[in-house]
Amino acid sequence: MENVYVMKKACLNKAQRAKEITPPPSPSLKGRGRGGGWKRYFQVKKTVLTGAIFFAMVMVVFGLEKTDVTVRAGRQEGILRLVFEAEESFLKKTNVSLSGMQINVEFPFVFNLKPQKDFNLETSAKERILTINLKEPFEMKVLRLSSPPRLVIDLATAKAKGSADIKAQAEVILSQKVFVIDPGHGGYDFGIMSSELKEKDIVLAIAKDIEAILIKRGKTVFLTRKSDQPVQLRDRAMFANQKMPEIFISIHTAASENFVLYVPLIAETGSEQPASDAYGLSSRQRKYAQKSRKLAEALGKAVREGFNLNVVQREMSLPVLDSIGAPVVLIEAPSFKIMSYDQKTRARLAEAIIKGISYYGQ
Ligand SMILES: [Zn+2]
Repeated sequence: MENVYVMKKACLNKAQRAKEITPPPSPSLKGRGRGGGWKRYFQVKKTVLTGAIFFAMVMVVFGLEKTDVTVRAGRQEGILRLVFEAEESFLKKTNVSLSGMQINVEFPFVFNLKPQKDFNLETSAKERILTINLKEPFEMKVLRLSSPPRLVIDLATAKAKGSADIKAQAEVILSQKVFVIDPGHGGYDFGIMSSELKEKDIVLAIAKDIEAILIKRGKTVFLTRKSDQPVQLRDRAMFANQKMPEIFISIHTAASENFVLYVPLIAETGSEQPASDAYGLSSRQRKYAQKSRKLAEALGKAVREGFNLNVVQREMSLPVLDSIGAPVVLIEAPSFKIMSYDQKTRARLAEAIIKGISYYGQ
């Protein structure tokens, strides 16, 4: 998938406008001498201007315009939860990414971090980016909550997952019967490309691998495209809804080092009309929103086990997912630089996805 985020880069006010001062009234003939008032006027103006420029430089150097961001941390059942609080519009434009054992939080403006006393992770800040250093690999999930506006980063440690994995080691059993697999792009829409690989070909091959495994298990599988052809997003969703699947998985690759799993965004305001309606989250998908999240968690767990790479879960309004009446996930496999995508790797990925579906259960 491409062009998901359009980062709006904000500009800083680099300088304060120097205050204009009005010239003093013309020196009267009764005054001390001609030109004395003007001389003083220019002296005053020079002083004010110098002061203003100095003040502006102080503003830039010391960043007095920084936005306050508080952060706190909490642990629960092996999940480390980081909660950032700031203005809603500020948090909305904040982007979170995971790179190795570092979380990079990119804010829209320079910021002033106010860690609460329970926050003891090692951080470093550079302009708009806050880097949080982790001591072990994590699976990351990012949530945006409102009232009060919060950006939540949930981190599941490998240890916490290990204990849960024991019961999941059992035979891969799939309770579902009907699946729709959506290989992204196709035809003139190549997706991501390297000198040798095209996203549209890789994802079609992976989708066919998944189809083959599922058919062997007696399942019914529909692919939104079976060949190298373009298919509109709306048509993919309509096709899927006609087939009434129990699971819908859209497959993409990206330029990321991580696996990224997308589920439809639902606003958690608790109101009857969540804000995401404006983006077309249908009532059809709304019914499955929690199941989509659960499916993403299950797929994330399986993929992480299979590849020992970080998995990031994101909520986002995506046309191909938002109107589907089934648990849906869009999986973005890592960049061609990270994974070879040869036949063996693709088969491993297909197996991991099947395993993820089995973890999801239902
Ligand atoms: Zn794609």
